[in-house]
Amino acid sequence: MPKTLNPNRVKIHRNYTVEEAASLLLVHKNTVRAWIKDGLPVCDERRPTLILGAQLRIYLQEKRQSRKCKCRIDEMYCMSCRSPKRPAGDIVELAQASVSANRLSGLCPTCGSLMNRFASDANLKRIKEKLDVCIPKSLQHINKSNPLVVNSDFS
Ligand SMILES: [Zn+2]
Repeated sequence: MPKTLNPNRVKIHRNYTVEEAASLLLVHKNTVRAWIKDGLPVCDERRPTLILGAQLRIYLQEKRQSRKCKCRIDEMYCMSCRSPKRPAGDIVELAQASVSANRLSGLCPTCGSLMNRFASDANLKRIKEKLDVCIPKSLQHINKSNPLVVNSDFS
């Protein structure tokens, strides 16, 4: 990811299309699509695909950190301790789920800060083997059987 890629350019109260996010961050729109595949959440059931600014900013911040410091599958990055931590009690909660991605949160065992990480469905499966993943009732209805089409260019 280029050095110029600055999460603070993203306005958290705005939504962005793939094209808007790409031009804002000076990257190719295929790069943004790759982020979505990688776990950047999007608004479901809307075309064109919309990315929430708040989610995009968190995603970029996390990407920046994980480039510096690669978390293991059972770890999350603590912003306060500035290091990867296995969440307290080996418990994470599914904080948000969309068709394309999941956001997990857990508590730092050292300082008690809330830690976040994004996980694709595949990674979530691997995480479930290592940690207890709590899924709040409000998220249990999410229908995952409808995979997101990322390459939606009309041909
Ligand atoms: Zn910490």
